[in-house]
Amino acid sequence: NDRRRLQFHITHYGNGEHLMLVRDVTRVHQLEQMRKDFVANVSHELRTPLTVIAGYLETLLDNVDEVNPRWRRALEQMQQQGERMQTLLNDLLLLAKLEATDYPSDNQPVAVAELLQTIKADAQALSGARGHRIELDAAPGMRLKGSEAELRSAFSNLVFNAVKYTPDGGEIRIRWWGDEQGAHLAVQDSGIGIEARHIPRLTERFYRVDSSRASHTGGTGLGLAIVKHVLLRHRGRLDITSQLGQGSTFTCHFPVSQRVRTDQDA
Ligand code: ADP
Repeated sequence: NDRRRLQFHITHYGNGEHLMLVRDVTRVHQLEQMRKDFVANVSHELRTPLTVIAGYLETLLDNVDEVNPRWRRALEQMQQQGERMQTLLNDLLLLAKLEATDYPSDNQPVAVAELLQTIKADAQALSGARGHRIELDAAPGMRLKGSEAELRSAFSNLVFNAVKYTPDGGEIRIRWWGDEQGAHLAVQDSGIGIEARHIPRLTERFYRVDSSRASHTGGTGLGLAIVKHVLLRHRGRLDITSQLGQGSTFTCHFPVSQRVRTDQDA
């Protein structure tokens, strides 16, 4: 649409005078929208050829003994990198969808305790032989208004990060509780921690503390950007505290208005 977008800044001086600044940000918004559309379109267009390539690779791997056994390793590498690219495109598309509006795609009472139970099981599977101890302490009846799919991707990003960035055998604690401020989810790990100067930038897309290390963990660098947008849509906010070498805590805070009252609550 070609409506103009204006930004107002009003300063009140003690003597009763006011200063009003009006900024025309129409062009900034248009450019931002073009960037978002472009990323979404490219991601979408790349998905189809990638699926075709993955299909051929699978056929080749099924018949690799006839073709040439020495190729197996190369083909497996190609398949692995293809899967990474698919994950990246899916995350980019999800982010584009999340940015398009600022309210959740659904407005159901989500049973967060049960959701966390399944995320915990997935995280334990992700940890596998690395043997993390994952503990869950969740208020059973407390529900949150919103989209279960969106909350699942946000919460699992936090829990999977805790596994990824915590050495083998480390501890991860997930807590879900309510108080007069609202509802809260904390994911605490005994992992590598984050230097304070990085914390404000962590939710930027593709921001990584150590890109060489991060590439081994198989992430896309979009996880925390997704978390931030899902929380925004649910009127929540993310709080990050960390101590280098000791561990980190990622806490999501939701206002009382997002909480669904249950019998236990009343
Ligand atoms: P990635 O796909 O790289 O994990 P994220 O957006 O999820 O991307 O996270 C951004 C960066 O924040 C990570 O690359 C990592 O450096 C840091 N990070 C996220 N979670 C943790 C954690 N629990 N402990 C230490 N560092 C973390």
